[in-house]
This record gives sequence, C-alpha cells and structure tokens, in this order.
Amino acid sequence: MSKKETNLENLGIGTKAVWSGSTDTYYKGSTQVPIVNSVTFAYKDVDTWFDVAIGKKEGHIYSRNTNPTTDVFEEKMRVLEGAEAATSFSTGMAGISNILLTFLSPNDRVVSIKDTYGGTSVLFLEFLPRFGIDVELCETTDHDALEREIKKGCKVVYLESPTNPTLKVMDLKRLIKVAHDHGAIVVVDNTFATPVNQKPLHLGADLVLHSATKFIGGHSDAMGGIVCGKKELIDKLFHFREITGATLHANTASLLIRGLKTLELRVLRQNESAMKLSLYLQTHPKVEEVFYPGLESHPSHSIAKEQMLGFGGVFSFSLKGGFENVKIMLNNLKLAHLAASLGSVGTLIGPPKVTSHVEATEEERKQLGIPEGLIRCSVGIENIEDIIEDFEQALSKI
Ligand SMILES: *Cc1c(COP(=O)(O)O)cnc(C)c1O
Repeated sequence: MSKKETNLENLGIGTKAVWSGSTDTYYKGSTQVPIVNSVTFAYKDVDTWFDVAIGKKEGHIYSRNTNPTTDVFEEKMRVLEGAEAATSFSTGMAGISNILLTFLSPNDRVVSIKDTYGGTSVLFLEFLPRFGIDVELCETTDHDALEREIKKGCKVVYLESPTNPTLKVMDLKRLIKVAHDHGAIVVVDNTFATPVNQKPLHLGADLVLHSATKFIGGHSDAMGGIVCGKKELIDKLFHFREITGATLHANTASLLIRGLKTLELRVLRQNESAMKLSLYLQTHPKVEEVFYPGLESHPSHSIAKEQMLGFGGVFSFSLKGGFENVKIMLNNLKLAHLAASLGSVGTLIGPPKVTSHVEATEEERKQLGIPEGLIRCSVGIENIEDIIEDFEQALSKI
C-alpha cells in the first residue's frame, strides 16, 4: 500500500482521525482500509525480499512484526498524539508490560503513584520486584513526595492522569520537568483523557499510552493498546514487542480504525454529558459526593482546567447509606450496563468495590480515598436527558 503524502499535522483532530494514514485508495479502488489477514508477505525476487528484511526498503515480512492494517491504526494514533512514532499492542496491559520491561533492568528504579490502573499496580507490586526492579509508589496527588523520589534517581517515571476511580489529576508539566532534570524517561497513561482532552507529549512526556479498548475503539467490541512518542524509544519498544509477540491483530485494528473516526464526536459529547450528570448528581439529596475534575468542588479542578482541553466522560459519585443503596440504585437502572470497563458509546456503571478494587480490603480502599458507597460511571453518547431520567427513577427506589 503506497501512502499519498498528505500533511495533516495542522488540521483539526476530527479531520486527523478520519484521514491520517488512510488518504489513499486500496484494492480495486476500495475507499476503506482493507483487513489484511495475511500472516506472511511474499516477494517475487530475493533481492527485494532481502532489502525489506534488513529495513532498506518499506514492506512487510510477517504479521507478528508489522501488518498493513495495523500500520494504519498506528499512523492515526501517531498523528492524533502529535508523536514521532507509534507502535500497537494486543491490549493496553500488553503495552504497559512491554514498556516497563523494555526500559527497566535489574537494579533500576521506577517512580509511580498508588492510584495506577489495577493491572499496572499488580505489575508494580508483584512482578517487577521479581526482576530486581525497585518500585516506589507515591501518594497520587502528593507532588512534593513525587519530586523527592524522582530526585533520588530513577530510570522511569510512570504517570496516569486522571486516575481511577476518583479522577485525581496530576500536574504533568511539573513532574515531567523534574524527571527530565534527573535523566528519567516519562511515560503517561492517557486512557481516561484521550488525545481529544489531553496531549501529554505536548506537555513534555516521552511516551504516551492508551488502552485502545476504551475511548479509542469506543464501542466495547475490540481490545488493543497503543504507545506513541519519541522514535528512538518506540524503536526499542517495537523491537521488544516483535519478540514478546503482544501484537495487535488486523481484524481488531480495523475495528479500532473505524472507532477512531468518531473519536472527537464521541468524546466531546461524553465531556458534556459527564458534566451535566455530575451537576445533576451534586444537588441530589441521596448523593453524598461527586468526583469529576470539571466540578469546582473537585480537589484537582484547577490543575485539570489548566492542563486538559476537556474533563472526560468518566466520573464517580458516592451514595448516602453506603453499599446497600448502591445495589438498589444500580439494580434499577435501565439504560446502562452494570459492567467493568469504560469509554464506550453505551453508559457503563459499577462500584469499584466490585470491579477495579475488588481485591483491596475496606481499609485499603479507605486509604485510596474510595468510599464504600462509590459508583463509577462512564457515560455513553445517549441523549443525556434520558440518562438523567433513568438515574432519577433508580435513585427514587432508595
Ligand atoms: C483498561 C485500562 C488499562 C488496561 O487496558 P486493557 O486494554 O484492558 O489491557 C490500562 N490503563 C487504564 C487507565 C485503563 O483504563
């Protein structure tokens, strides 16, 4: 597939999502990116094959390494994040594991936060120490503690913002600067924000990653991961991934490409709906507290306002009366799936006590600031009046 050289760098994010990596036409004039389900790629002569194999000529050899469909997904995300390069993975966790194992070796140190995504947290607490990697997890919003630990020296600073489930926001610019002054690589998990709402690379990060399973795909029907950033780092990561084999499949890449085209439409709608739903819940007599960085009452509101272009589609809220009332409300909702995950066109809702923090004890949840009556909601693209009405009738059952 030849690429028509169209410069999309200065265009809007909606335009980039539709056209980047796919301005060409394909097989017999098809306008849509073909799903190339070919494991291997053949050459008519050995010289050309050899040139491709040693990277002298563009082309594909074997789909564990590169694939024409997967390439288009990577190109779209590269352009959306404003990166030099990008590489994709079978899941978000595959991306995160590969990053940490590519850039950390025995006796290296990584500094991160206590509120990382559950799977990431398991990597930090259970697996990395087994490889002799020193892990330091700080209180998520204690920027002074993070700076102190970064200054002691570390190879990687791993950040995530906003966090799950109480949407804590970190001052990325400040932490990136300290990390760079001390020679560390900065990785940011941008899954909750999406490139529509936050651009970590513009704030100085070296690598930005997404669970493409969430907002990027947007329809809860495809899993994937994507990492964008400096070419030198992506090359190393890609080399490791070729061997670990955590490759994104062409079929899935095609679903992600389709999902991406509506990313901006979906996320702008979800930003607006999450704000409306948060404001509605904030004044509801049965609600104890609402956690959404768009609300002035949220402890991270001022950083979020400065750092983000929108506040995102995920928020959480706690009910008075604790978990018993959580069950009553959730069991009575009609227009939401009671399910894990986030970032889909349909509203997803669930209590962290049952989903992300099911393995934590009540005491551990308390330390992370997670009330027992907390509910996390990832609002979809439905008409918000309908969702508010559904919430209203479910809350009235309490
Ligand atoms: C879901 C998620 C991940 C993991 O992604 P998978 O695609 O499920 O492997 C990582 N980070 C965040 C913030 C997530 O929400």
